[in-house]
Amino acid sequence: MKNTEQFIGKKVLVVGLAKSGVAAAGLLQRLGAEVVVNDSKPLEGNEEVIELQTQGIEVIGGGHPSDLLERNFDFIVKNPGIPYSNTLIASAVERKIPIWTEVELAGILSEAPIIAITGSNGKTTTTTLLYHMLNMAKKKPLIAGNIGTVSCTVAEKAHANEVIVLEASSFQLAGTESFAPRIAIFTNLYEAHLDYHGSMKEYLDAKLQVARNQTSEEYLIFNADQKLIKEAIESFESQKVPFSVLGKTREGISADEEWIYWLGEPFIEIKHIKLPGRHNLENILSATAAAILSGCEKTAIENVLSSFTGVRHRMQFVREAKSRTIYNDSKATNTLATKSALSSFKMPIVLIAGGLDRGHSFEELRPYMKNVRAVVTIGETAERFAKFAISCGVTETAQASTMQEAVQKAYACSCEDDVILLSPSCASWDQYKSFEIRGDEFIDAVMKL
Ligand code: ADP
Repeated sequence: MKNTEQFIGKKVLVVGLAKSGVAAAGLLQRLGAEVVVNDSKPLEGNEEVIELQTQGIEVIGGGHPSDLLERNFDFIVKNPGIPYSNTLIASAVERKIPIWTEVELAGILSEAPIIAITGSNGKTTTTTLLYHMLNMAKKKPLIAGNIGTVSCTVAEKAHANEVIVLEASSFQLAGTESFAPRIAIFTNLYEAHLDYHGSMKEYLDAKLQVARNQTSEEYLIFNADQKLIKEAIESFESQKVPFSVLGKTREGISADEEWIYWLGEPFIEIKHIKLPGRHNLENILSATAAAILSGCEKTAIENVLSSFTGVRHRMQFVREAKSRTIYNDSKATNTLATKSALSSFKMPIVLIAGGLDRGHSFEELRPYMKNVRAVVTIGETAERFAKFAISCGVTETAQASTMQEAVQKAYACSCEDDVILLSPSCASWDQYKSFEIRGDEFIDAVMKL
């Protein structure tokens, strides 16, 4: 670790237990800070609390006492999920107490360079792809953030010859002040999380934290096909590496139907890529650019691209069965994700969709339904989705009450060379505990075909 001395004797308030709060509190205590942890939930029977108290950390539970901030904290480490409208946080903002997330700590302490990936969609896929590329090239990657271990815990143990690949959400980035990763990736920006950020501008601002502090020594790989992003980063000092799937460009990384180009030169042939979908091509471009900038050889990158079939539940190739190709996109909990999935295939699709009814419209999918041969609907929105599909001209629809039944019906509706795709466009909580469990049941049923 580096810069550890700056935490000695500092008074720190950690707000919110959970994995990241416990990790940050323990780390700061080890670094010689005076740490207090506060959580709105009662403390009784909480194992995390016992763990912290054994380390000599004061834990205050059951609410946020109004006089807590009288203790003159030097800074606060906030759980990313706690909104700025929280009374304690709002009053800390008023008092101008710095409010960080543990990602800021990771940035300060890590000896290893950090590659941070953010954006509305594609973070996990890009992070995973890049991790595999770096691993294949023996660059000793460590995965951190949303899909891995808490980033400050990874940073605590990381060595200078390793590299941290960090999936960073807007919630985490909003709480950074000096964070400047060696390489930042900004995948894209779509409307999301406005309940937390308040407006699109605030959401974009939080995401931009990934590169705002970068100097000309650091790289920013960004989606040049999105005007909003391109304009927003114009004044940044970072070395800019644009990516575009709209055809060959001379700068950065780009792609057309046949090639991926690096600085305008053919680099890897598209036909070697396993992962389907134009949206995934964006993820491939940004991961490839980061791998090149990290010194990975082309063969390592190529090996990963020709074998990587997707992250579990995200347009994951499951198997071929009697000439049908079957994909699990259970993570597609909104129409935007299903839109990407549907536009990934030229072959006819038998779509399994439906789930929790949030009253959201499916209209956005209409232009992408032309290629859908049949729809099998599940969950609370089953009837509504079926009606929508019929209005789009889909002639065959069926309803299923279990995933097993849905897969069998989808298979019965399909023809040779079709794609069978689970991409529900809805959250899973009406029938399942998580989208992962929904996807696992789908895979099980597909394996039994
Ligand atoms: P995140 O971690 O940002 O949620 P994932 O990689 O888990 O992203 O992908 C989530 C869903 O978003 C996938 O099911 C896919 O359909 C869609 N998606 C992935 N990458 C992109 C992209 N670059 N652009 C648009 N949609 C995407």
